[in-house]
Amino acid sequence: MRSELYIDGKWTPAANGRTFDVVNPATEEMFHKIAAATAEDVDVAVKAARRAFDKDGWPKLSGAQRAKYLRAIADGIRARQAEIALLEVIDNGKPFPEADWDIADAAGCFDFYAGLAEQLDNNPEEPIALSDGRFTSKAVKEPIGVAGAIIPWNYPLLMAAWKVAPALAAGCTVVLKPAEVTSLTALELAAIADETGLPPGVLNIVTGSGSIAGQAIIDHKGVDKIAFTGSGPVGSKIMAAAARDIKRVSLELGGKSPFVVFDDADIDEAVEWIMFGIFWNQGQVCSATSRVLVQEGIYDRLVARLIEETKKIKIGNGLEEGVLLGPLVSKRQHEQVVAAIEAAKAAGATVACGGMRPEGFDKGYYLEPTILTGVPLDSDAWRDEIFGPVLCIRPFSTEEEAIELANDSRFGLAAAVMSKDDVRAERVAAAFRAGIVWINCSQPTFTEAPWGGYKESGIGRELGRWGLENYLETKQITRFATGEKWGWYIK
Ligand code: NAP
Ligand code: MG
Repeated sequence: MRSELYIDGKWTPAANGRTFDVVNPATEEMFHKIAAATAEDVDVAVKAARRAFDKDGWPKLSGAQRAKYLRAIADGIRARQAEIALLEVIDNGKPFPEADWDIADAAGCFDFYAGLAEQLDNNPEEPIALSDGRFTSKAVKEPIGVAGAIIPWNYPLLMAAWKVAPALAAGCTVVLKPAEVTSLTALELAAIADETGLPPGVLNIVTGSGSIAGQAIIDHKGVDKIAFTGSGPVGSKIMAAAARDIKRVSLELGGKSPFVVFDDADIDEAVEWIMFGIFWNQGQVCSATSRVLVQEGIYDRLVARLIEETKKIKIGNGLEEGVLLGPLVSKRQHEQVVAAIEAAKAAGATVACGGMRPEGFDKGYYLEPTILTGVPLDSDAWRDEIFGPVLCIRPFSTEEEAIELANDSRFGLAAAVMSKDDVRAERVAAAFRAGIVWINCSQPTFTEAPWGGYKESGIGRELGRWGLENYLETKQITRFATGEKWGWYIK
């Protein structure tokens, strides 16, 4: 396990020698210490990234040359997949099969952006037809510069990949800050990148707190772009900081995403996707479909079946065979989710199942999968993100009512609809005010497709070709034809 900062191709302790503790959420044991970067360390990292961008030629390499590094990183991740997945489990708490899937996806993300980097070479410029035939013009894409990437703890390596892979593919250099509670696998990414011979300064990883290391990144004048995934309040702070020197910003924030189930749906299929939409990753998923709306005709039967299946979920240490729900990531997160359940009860909601620390778990940040019914529409439980395994479920009668309830949110990250009537499903999908819409499923995420939110769920899109655009500027180059005369001042 790595414990130092990775800056300018070297491993280094924090300037003041400080560290923070690494805790296993399944056991509450402190098992490691990692360097806590200071603003001084961030400054060194940003300067290294600037030099790599401005002088050492990373953006000048062809896309194909950069793609070789990206593919080597993908291979390096896959070569150590099980070991890295294990680190993710002891750091984040998620069940091993989920971690294993995340790590494979992270490798796939590097491969995907290697392909897009190569395409940059084939398609470097776009000719533009102008209204004045004496001029010719073209648009070219160029990397933005130094990208500061700040990520959350729910998909530690995968969120790093979503930012680092497109940034490097575009020709940007990167300073990445992982979340303090889950920094282990980002440091392994640095080690893997280092083994590929990635030039010093191209990728720098600074572990540490948001208020010190994160703040230093967003305040640094040498950073051209901030890519952030995390909470709304921190997203606001980042936009405000970026406004001071007009840094480019992309934000992937939270949500309170609806899942509308019509009464022609198969109940077991609906229950399967509802559960996947809220209990996968302990519900610590920005796009979790945490507000389920079920048409009256099947509401009672569906809720009964959902409770029956939810009670069967095997809770435990993510390293144990067959576990489907691990602990929440941290003590703080556990306290926040428990407080949200208590507040929901106080507001009049009924706990239909779960809501407690599971029996027999004295240690570890465990919480039963929880279903709330009768949640008032104006309560925090219905309106705010809980970011835990807590589902709110309500009946509706008409399609119109379902759409209105679904869109009545300040968020707009994701939305899902289930119906055997394809025309109706498409109509509802079109009516959702959300950036990601699933029909007859919830959560499957593909590197090729755009990811991001409407309204307070964020700005910009990650993944797919949109994710690459996030790290590119557009430049027009317009030429006045040799031999032509302008003749404004000099006739
Ligand atoms: P968070 O508190 O916003 O933290 C996210 C990252 O920002 C962490 O690395 C954090 O550092 C850092 N940070 C905190 N304060 C900062 C500051 N002043 N300046 C710069 N960086 C700062 O969110 P979280 O609790 O880790 O993650 C959960 C939230 O993320 C949820 O609300 C969820 O919806 C959202 N999320 C969204 C998506 C999406 O794709 N839209 C995906 C995943 C998560 P430290 O934590 O190390 O202090
Ligand atoms: Mg941890």
